Amino acid sequence: MVWLGERKGRFNPDWPRVRALILDRDGHRCQWPVEDDYGRVRLCGAYANQVDHKKRDPVCDDDSPENLWALCDRHHSYKTELEAAEQRRENRRRRAEAKWYRHPAFH
Ligand SMILES: [Zn+2]
Repeated sequence: MVWLGERKGRFNPDWPRVRALILDRDGHRCQWPVEDDYGRVRLCGAYANQVDHKKRDPVCDDDSPENLWALCDRHHSYKTELEAAEQRRENRRRRAEAKWYRHPAFH
């Protein structure tokens, strides 16, 4: 099981600067799109103190500003949850695939 500790190994040394840059760009406002009762999408806008990768890359996260956005605590943990669920699905898929390639027909 791959766990969060692994990520720290390739932590971007420039991260504190990038992080400050993104929070500044987004005005410390959460950029998560939320839908109101009328189906209109707006930004959450809550105070943001998290900088998050829109798209996570399992090999190397893209730290470019286009791939980063400011999120509030609530949406950051929500997204982390979604990603964990996604990761579990992906792990299941890989296991199924590995099983398939171990099939005698491939040897
Ligand atoms: Zn938010």
